[in-house]
Amino acid sequence: MTDKSIEETRHFATMVADKQGWTLNPDSDFTDSLIDGLTVNWNRYGYYLCPCRDTEGSREADSDVLCPCRYSRGDIEQYGHCFCALYLSKAFAESGEQPAGIPDLRNV
Ligand code: SF4
Repeated sequence: MTDKSIEETRHFATMVADKQGWTLNPDSDFTDSLIDGLTVNWNRYGYYLCPCRDTEGSREADSDVLCPCRYSRGDIEQYGHCFCALYLSKAFAESGEQPAGIPDLRNV
């Protein structure tokens, strides 16, 4: 498995946001830390494990939390942002609201 650079991961996250009609969190320091976490996870596990969650031990067991996770679309519709707040709906981003802690549906 080839390691990813920070810039490759940023490109990936930007493509995801563009494809889904979302936007990356405009707080650049915060977003940088999540991009860094995704990169570390790729280089450690070989897949983009959510940077806000722990591995369950295998790609199969983590399949629900490969970024963009299974819960992201519903969370963004309901709360305006995903669990990590890496991705925001455009409406939420334009509102200037700050992401708040939301339930982790993985554990529900
Ligand atoms: S909550 Fe989901 S969409 Fe957001 S960074 Fe984590 S895996 Fe990606």
